[in-house]
Formats: sequence, C-alpha cells, structure tokens
Amino acid sequence: MEWTSIFQMKAESLKQGDSWRLEFDDSLVPDCPNPGWEQYIRNTGARFKCTMCGRGWPSNRVMVVFHMRLSNGQGIVKVRRFRQNCKMCTEAPMEMPEIDSENINILLENLVEKIRIKCYHEDLGRGNRPFVNLEVKSPHEPAHCEACKQGICARS
Ligand SMILES: [Zn+2]
Ligand SMILES: [Zn+2]
Repeated sequence: MEWTSIFQMKAESLKQGDSWRLEFDDSLVPDCPNPGWEQYIRNTGARFKCTMCGRGWPSNRVMVVFHMRLSNGQGIVKVRRFRQNCKMCTEAPMEMPEIDSENINILLENLVEKIRIKCYHEDLGRGNRPFVNLEVKSPHEPAHCEACKQGICARS
C-alpha cells in the first residue's frame, strides 16, 4: 500500500527506536480522538469516480483526518479519508478519493511534522506545505460530501 510505505519512509526521521505504523480506520470521529490521542485534519486535492455511471470529478476539498498516539515507543496513526458521491446519480454510493502520490507525500510530510510537535513536543516553527491543487471548474457540492455533512469540510 502506497500510504504505508511512504509513511514508513518518513517516520524513520522520528526518534530512533520508536516504531510507527499507519492504518486506515473509517470509523474515526473528527474532533473526538480517544483519550491520549492527537488529531491532525487537512484537506487535499483528489479525484473521485462514480461506480454507478463512471463519471469522474476532481475536488480540492477532500478531507483527511489523522488520529495519532505514541506510547512506550510504539506509535500508531489512524487515517480516515472522507468520501463524496456523484451528483448525477440518485442514491449514488459514497466513493473513496483517489489521491495521487504527490499529494499523499505532502499529506504525510505534514503529518510527520505534526507528530514531532504533538507527540515529541518539538517546535519546528515551520508551516504546512500546501497540496497540489487540481483544476476544479464546478462548485463544491455539500450535499454530496461526507465531510460537509459532518461539519468539518475544508477547515484546515
Ligand atoms: Zn454517477
Ligand atoms: Zn465538503
């Protein structure tokens, strides 16, 4: 899996001896990390494809939520990618975003910085690296965005 290998590479820059792993968890609740967990929430650019009609659309409001925890040298990151569904089909299923490697890279680079700040209490004084914007011609559709429905869309 692309996410895990990119994350493993970047996590090597974290404190020696600590092991970190990343897993997907679609049940993460934004703003409610479990006790002892930190949150990082970010939007990125990605594409979606409707499994009913095959139509594709780009979006720069693809929300990604990370919850992370370091305890006894074991770090865990849980990730949830927020879905969108097709506005042309009735009862279209929610689709997972297809995020390209460059934006996965940028997301995980920012995540590792956040881990340094929140889990290792380092202050790096650096800002977030912006994601690569996709060309989006139509307006964002809150009715078809899972993150909008949960009130967390494009808040980063
Ligand atoms: Zn469709
Ligand atoms: Zn939205």
